[in-house]
Amino acid sequence: MIRTTPPRPFDVAAAFPQLAPLARTATRLHPRPGSPSPYQSSIGGPLLWPSRQPWLYCDKWHEGPVCPLLPVAQLYVRDVPQLRSPGRTDLLQVLWCPSEHPPHFKPRTELFWRTAADVTHVLTSPPSPYEAQRGYTPEPCVLAPEQVTEYPHFLELDRELRQQLSEWSTWQAVGVVTDDSDESDPEAFYIDALSVAPGWKVGGWAPWGLTDPIARFCIHCGSAMNPLLTIASDESRDYRRSWVPLEDQAIPEIDNDKVSNPPGIQVSDANNLQLYVCPTCFTHTDLIQ
Ligand SMILES: [Zn+2]
Ligand SMILES: [Zn+2]
Repeated sequence: MIRTTPPRPFDVAAAFPQLAPLARTATRLHPRPGSPSPYQSSIGGPLLWPSRQPWLYCDKWHEGPVCPLLPVAQLYVRDVPQLRSPGRTDLLQVLWCPSEHPPHFKPRTELFWRTAADVTHVLTSPPSPYEAQRGYTPEPCVLAPEQVTEYPHFLELDRELRQQLSEWSTWQAVGVVTDDSDESDPEAFYIDALSVAPGWKVGGWAPWGLTDPIARFCIHCGSAMNPLLTIASDESRDYRRSWVPLEDQAIPEIDNDKVSNPPGIQVSDANNLQLYVCPTCFTHTDLIQ
């Protein structure tokens, strides 16, 4: 399966050269309904988990027994070469406890980095969570990873650049002509069409908007943490139509939930859960955006 994001309406870094050094690669995952095996990258699919390794449980905030975690994503480095995995590991597994936990009302996430070749006997029937809140059990999906270039969300830019980007006259002065200038404001055009890709992705820039940008620092070593995985509540909405892959352009109802959100995840209504990782010690944290 292949998914191809159309080229951006124009090269924003050529028009605004201050953006050029801020370009980052993101790998859009494009989850689509399927029956992944433990040997494939997936969302909501079975994990390559050794049969003799104890499963992970959540013991926080549950009234009943501790709750088995649920597989959310499994990413092989061969499919997502952008993943920087520790040591000789080549597989990232993401699990969560599928309900909103106080105090921040997020599912509790756990990351596991492993070496696929070390797993000889795969656990075939892991325990299921005792309780799961609506919107936190992903439907099994296969992936079509694709690398794109992203620029920071408008809110992460410095004041001078924000000022420039919010006047159509500056855009026209650098030679940008767009059909959108009649109907939308340039700030929304930058955010929706030119900066951060929608949907599940690895790396890139964070999809701010719900909150103002907050830098994340590792609690162990103090390093600035990087966006690792964006867990999204949808991939394609009408107002972000320019990001719909060429292969999906003929689908009439892009806003339909089945089309826009094959994993069926709803993070805190319709938001994103951003996982961050420390580049030095691989500690992770998360934030709803
Ligand atoms: Zn829990
Ligand atoms: Zn660290």
